[in-house]
Amino acid sequence: MRSVTEKTGPDSWSHFLALSLDRLRAGGLYRRLRLIDSPVAPSVNIDGRPFLLFCSNDYLGLANHSRMKTVAAETALSWGTGSGASRLISGNNSFYGGLEKAVAGFKGTEAALIFSSGYATNVGVITSLVDRGDLILSDALNHASIVDACGLSKARVQVYPHGDIDALESLLDAAPASGKTLVVTDGVFSMTGDLAPLPELDKICREYGALLMVDDAHGTGVIGPKGGGTLDYFNMDGRGIVQMGTFSKALGGLGGFVAGSSQLIDYLINHARSLIYSTALPPAVLASNQEGIRIIRTEPSHRQRLSSLVNHMREGLGRLGVQVSPWPTPILPIVLGDVEETLSLAQHLWDKGLFVPAIRPPTVPRGESCLRISLSALHTPADLDRLLAALEAHYKKGS
Ligand code: PMP
Repeated sequence: MRSVTEKTGPDSWSHFLALSLDRLRAGGLYRRLRLIDSPVAPSVNIDGRPFLLFCSNDYLGLANHSRMKTVAAETALSWGTGSGASRLISGNNSFYGGLEKAVAGFKGTEAALIFSSGYATNVGVITSLVDRGDLILSDALNHASIVDACGLSKARVQVYPHGDIDALESLLDAAPASGKTLVVTDGVFSMTGDLAPLPELDKICREYGALLMVDDAHGTGVIGPKGGGTLDYFNMDGRGIVQMGTFSKALGGLGGFVAGSSQLIDYLINHARSLIYSTALPPAVLASNQEGIRIIRTEPSHRQRLSSLVNHMREGLGRLGVQVSPWPTPILPIVLGDVEETLSLAQHLWDKGLFVPAIRPPTVPRGESCLRISLSALHTPADLDRLLAALEAHYKKGS
C-alpha cells in the first residue's frame, strides 16, 4: 500500500485552495457565511448587532408567522422530525398528498409534485425532460439552478438574450427538425425583479412545438390577483406549461414543486433522479408549507401591504434618481456595474445597520454588479425611509 504523505508545493491541494481563494479576494468576489442570531424578520441580530434586513426572500413574512409555527410544531410533536427514506421507498408521508393537491389547486393544474428544494426541482425536471439530441433554449438571466440543470442534461443548450423574443424565434427557426425543444425561463427574474414576457413566450412555443417551463420561485405568492404568480399576473391558464416554484420564498417554508398535467407528474416520478434518490421532506415542513398556501389564498392583505411598500420604495428611489424597473415585484436592484463601487455602497449601508447585499459575478454577469433590495410585507414605511436616507447620504457624498 502507498504511504499517505501530505504533498506540498505548487501541485498540492492546499496550494490550489489557497490560490483560488486569493484570486477571489483580489477580485472582490470572496464570500463568507454570516450567522444570523434571530428569526427571519426585517430586524435581525448579526454578530450581536441589530440590522434592518433588505435581502430576505420571505416576501410575505410567513417564515415566522404564528400559524405556520403552530402547524409545524404540532406536526413535529406528533409525527417526528424526519421522513426516514426517499419518496419512492417509505418516505412518502400522507402530508405529501394534501400539499400536492393544494399546489395544483393554487396553480390551476391537474397535478403537482414536490421535491426537497427548488434547486432539486429544476435539476430533476430539466434533466428528465430532455436528453441527447434535444435542445434547451434558456434566458441569459435564468437562475443558477436552471443553468446547472441545463449543464447536467445531455441536451444542447443555447442561451438567448434576456427576454428577447426575436432572438428566441431565430433559435427556434434554426433548431434541428429532429429532437425535442425545451424553452426555460424565470417568471420573475431573481436578481433584476423583471418579468419574462410569458404570453409571447407561450405563443411562440406553441407555434414551434416547443415545451415552455417557467421557474416562478419569486412570483409565487407575490404577484397576480390571486398571488398565483407570473401566469396569474398575465391571466394565463397555464395549459401545456411546466410551472416550477419553491416554498422557500413567499411561502415561508422549504421545498420545491412542479405543477402541470397528471401525465407530466407521472413521468417525473419515474424519471427525476433528484426526487428518486433523495430523502423525503419531514411532515412538519410539508404541513407548514400547506398552511403557507392557505394563508396566501385567504389573506390577500399580506400581498397588498407588500405592494404598497414596493410603491413607496420605488417612488423614493425615483426621487434619488435611481432607475428602477416598473414591474410590481419586491426585488428592486440598484445596478452600479462595478464590483468595488457596489461593495463600497453595501459597506456604507452595513455601517449604518442596513443589510443590503452586494450581488456580484457569477450571480450576475460581469459589469452588472448590483445592490439587491428585497422587501417584505413586514417592513414599515419608516424602515424604507431609513434605507432611502442612507442611500441619499451616500449619493450626496459622492456628488
Ligand atoms: N429558482 C430561482 C429563480 C431561485 O431564485 C431559487 C432560489 N434562490 C431557486 C430556484 C432554488 O430554490 P430553493 O432555494 O428552494 O432551492
